[in-house]
Amino acid sequence: MRDSSDVMSDQEVCLFYRLDQSDRITAIGGAWDRMAQENGGDRLCGDSVVGRPLYDFISGDISKMFVRTVIEGVRVLQRPRTVPYRCDSPGLRRYMEMSIKCEPGGGLLLEHRQVRTEATGRRFDFRVGRQPLRQMVVRCSHCNAVKFEGRWGEPEALLPVASTTDVPVIYGVCPNCMDLVRRI
Ligand SMILES: [Zn+2]
Repeated sequence: MRDSSDVMSDQEVCLFYRLDQSDRITAIGGAWDRMAQENGGDRLCGDSVVGRPLYDFISGDISKMFVRTVIEGVRVLQRPRTVPYRCDSPGLRRYMEMSIKCEPGGGLLLEHRQVRTEATGRRFDFRVGRQPLRQMVVRCSHCNAVKFEGRWGEPEALLPVASTTDVPVIYGVCPNCMDLVRRI
């Protein structure tokens, strides 16, 4: 995997996709393929995602519920919304934002932009793990904070030095991001 800061300029629309009224993907564009490959998601490439529910591509029940709640809020209120989030890769903090807009017929347009990046001191390679739950770190799918020994925070601040590679995680949503949903 390589950092993508060299190929994406700030504020560029990295990728976009359209959803129908059932949240199935009807079209994708931008750098979907590139982002998927760089983030180890080859199975997400190209037209294979069209026609499938967005939630097939989100790991963790709580993360699915979080995205569903944000999306439904836009649809019900008929009001566009932009939410910040993180999409870090090893050695790089990526500050992103997702804009959700209503389209005719109950569909939605979702655009993802990279706002800025920061290099990290330590590299972590997070992977969805198969270990027993108590041996895994919970990672917020929205802001990329991790929960370790009962506390949420930046991986660099919380994780022991020994866990710099292949950290097994399960995905969830941290309390701060849950508050973000409630502020719809
Ligand atoms: Zn979070």
